[in-house]
Amino acid sequence: MKRSLSFILAASTLLASHAFAQDLDLIIRGGSLIDGSGSPATKTDIGIRGDRIVLVGNSTGRKSQREIDATGLVVTPGFIDPHTHTASDLSDPKRSRNDAYLMQGVTTVATGNDGDSPTAIGSTLAKWTQQGIGTNAALFIGQGTVRREVMGMSDAKPTAEQLDRMKTLVDTAMKEGAIGISTGLYYAPGSFASTEEVIELARIAAQHGGVYDTHMRDESSYSIGLLASVRETIRIGEEAHLPVMISHIKALGADVWGQSKDVIVLIDDARKAGVKVTASQYPYTASGTSVTAALVPRWAEAGGDGALLKNLNDSRLRPRLINEMNQNLTRRGGPDSLLMTASRDKTIVGKTLATIARERNESPVDAAIEIVKSGGSDVASFNMKESDIEAFMGQSWVMTCSDGSEGHPRKYGTYPRKLRQYVYEKHVIPREFAIRSSTSLPAETLGLKDRGLLKPGYFADVLVFDPKTFNERATYQQPEFSPLAFAISPSTANSPSTTGP
Ligand SMILES: [Zn+2]
Repeated sequence: MKRSLSFILAASTLLASHAFAQDLDLIIRGGSLIDGSGSPATKTDIGIRGDRIVLVGNSTGRKSQREIDATGLVVTPGFIDPHTHTASDLSDPKRSRNDAYLMQGVTTVATGNDGDSPTAIGSTLAKWTQQGIGTNAALFIGQGTVRREVMGMSDAKPTAEQLDRMKTLVDTAMKEGAIGISTGLYYAPGSFASTEEVIELARIAAQHGGVYDTHMRDESSYSIGLLASVRETIRIGEEAHLPVMISHIKALGADVWGQSKDVIVLIDDARKAGVKVTASQYPYTASGTSVTAALVPRWAEAGGDGALLKNLNDSRLRPRLINEMNQNLTRRGGPDSLLMTASRDKTIVGKTLATIARERNESPVDAAIEIVKSGGSDVASFNMKESDIEAFMGQSWVMTCSDGSEGHPRKYGTYPRKLRQYVYEKHVIPREFAIRSSTSLPAETLGLKDRGLLKPGYFADVLVFDPKTFNERATYQQPEFSPLAFAISPSTANSPSTTGP
């Protein structure tokens, strides 16, 4: 965990020139303060010294090196995103500032989700601390990563010795600073693990006070179904004795639309019984995945990429493959619902599978197989119903997450979009409730100390935004477009200006 200050508006230089003669380094005066706890907004001031908040209240008579007039603006804790795919961004000096997140008001990201993380947790965190990164960051150890390390892409059950090796890897990762274990039980090779195998590894994370974060085995009707997957997650929490987080909770595809109701009952009951269950969610009707993950059955992936290609070219397997891929395509809403967002083959990006199939004069599944064979493609998969999204969003245990990935606007737009659409326009949830879901709730769930609230003693991760202009600008056509944000640099601290990306 990077401990340095990540204050979104006042750049770090402001505080580097620490004036000891002053009482405070910075006062943010007169904003509408939403403290992250869910309590109603109050018009008050906030004082910062070093990297901590030292005052929340009337600042009259207090001296400060700098002041920001936040009249008419909203002041909240910096957002905490519990599910991102930022590990490679943070490791690349050119992208380590993490602009996609900072520009949305996110000051802390968790990554290593979906069972996929760096193997070496300690050295990754050390590298980030050393080189400096734009947000704070926390890492999960990925169960898929650990399994691949020990068993490759095999779909076999681990031997006792292999299981021991996986447990040791999780133990080491937790000792090196991982905040918990993540799984991607929908994806290969995570999908090859039984519930019992996952419980064994989750128990190790539990011994170190870690949490369990999961992209569940099935968010739809692919294998065991959505409800059975929620039950599996709850069982893992019960038997491994640790808090469980369901990643990007959703009802994926027409077969399970409306099941948000039943999922909510299952989770509420488990919480009443003492299991710590939470979930994260991004506010979009499209998920982001790949053609392979969306359409190809997992058995065809066992053994890795070489085996996948062999299976795709095997004429004896072809009827079964085509049949199952057609079912998966129906589940996802048909070829019009899959939009190619990033691929080595630039000619397909921006087109739906339906368009590509039409252009090539072949069936959608044949076109999909060709895409997979020539390196695959990321897709935006339009498969969710607004009513399920709103039902989940209204739950006190649902956090905001971006699950940001290349080609999907959620990486640049999640947080302002949620506020703009679901708070200010559709009034689905109250403003304070939305801020809590993006701040103190993820901080508590991930076990991040002194973050997520505007409170004396807490880290000065602070966001100031203009509720009239704070909005997403990323679209499926132009996903890498930062929100219209209110940015203040030290040199213009008292004359805020609106800036673009
Ligand atoms: Zn996921």
